[in-house]
Amino acid sequence: MKMHNFNSGPSILPATVLEQAAAAIINYNNTGLSLLEIGHRAKWFEEILHEAIGLIKELMELGTEYEVLFLHGGASTQFMQVPMNLLDTNDTAAYIDNGIWGTKAIKEAKLFGNVAVVSSTKDKNHSYIAKDFTVPANAKYLHFTTNNTVEGTEWHQLPATDIPLVADMSSDIFSRPFAYNQLGVIYAGAQKNMGAAGVNLLVIRKDMLGKISRPIPAIMDYQNHIEAGSLLNTPPVFAVYVAMLTLRWIKQEGSLAVMEQRAKERANLFYNTLDALPFYTPIVAKEDRSLMNATFAITDATLEKEFLDLCKENGMVGVKGHRSVGGLRVSMYNALPLSSVEAICDLMKAFAAKYA
Ligand code: PMP
Repeated sequence: MKMHNFNSGPSILPATVLEQAAAAIINYNNTGLSLLEIGHRAKWFEEILHEAIGLIKELMELGTEYEVLFLHGGASTQFMQVPMNLLDTNDTAAYIDNGIWGTKAIKEAKLFGNVAVVSSTKDKNHSYIAKDFTVPANAKYLHFTTNNTVEGTEWHQLPATDIPLVADMSSDIFSRPFAYNQLGVIYAGAQKNMGAAGVNLLVIRKDMLGKISRPIPAIMDYQNHIEAGSLLNTPPVFAVYVAMLTLRWIKQEGSLAVMEQRAKERANLFYNTLDALPFYTPIVAKEDRSLMNATFAITDATLEKEFLDLCKENGMVGVKGHRSVGGLRVSMYNALPLSSVEAICDLMKAFAAKYA
């Protein structure tokens, strides 16, 4: 039986993607070789990489001023690789502190230059997005997290600033049409809306580069990766392939407008159910609610374990909140069918009725 997969990442992927990825491991496109056995400089892999980059540029509506890279290390590596490449020791970068991932990015950036935290929502456990702030005019960039996976908040429009934006989009990338081509840098670990863990997407506007004097280790230098076309060293071949299949699926389903429409359907159903049941407590400000990760609590917290056990019995995984904040969280990424949200809403109603 297929589980209802509410995992926050790695998370649900389209069934057709999993089938194709599984087949490619045994015999890639009738080549008589597994995808895991082909060289990364073989024509087959070049085609995969080329198609994936083309799909990203198309879905994000990027012009030729942007470069698209597949890098190792997951989004956490970008917490340090971004400032290493963009921030000189005496420069200042502005950061928005809207959640635990943003906080980690700030800590890493401080190793490379000056950091101005222009807005922090720590005062209320990151349960909202603070949209009013002032960015120092000399800031090289403003870093923000478009969707706070752990806390369940999301930016529904771009932060208002003239400073180049650097966005960690790990948990809402490709979930909606967005002003991708107004950002200086976009990065995301693939393991939510884009595929399997093990690869990192980096999109960079070329004018962001070449402005610092620090020596950068070769493997960390964006410029080197650009010149090598994401083939500076052996890329995570399988993860890039799964990303390409997932991007193909997004396009075939009707692109980002359809992803957004489905995300809204799922989120509306979930939040409407939550709001109608005082048995549960929503955690974040209504206007800042994430369409990807809904966080909530049971008003009587002593019932949480029983609720989670019931989820498990009903084939639902991933409902426990992040270990740092507790409570409950339902992640609803692109591939999650509406029927899974219907199932957990029914369970929530029944559980509340039991204690009414
Ligand atoms: N940023 C965000 C918004 C995330 O959700 C995560 C992981 N859940 C990370 C960064 C860290 O990603 P990784 O584990 O790929 O380093």
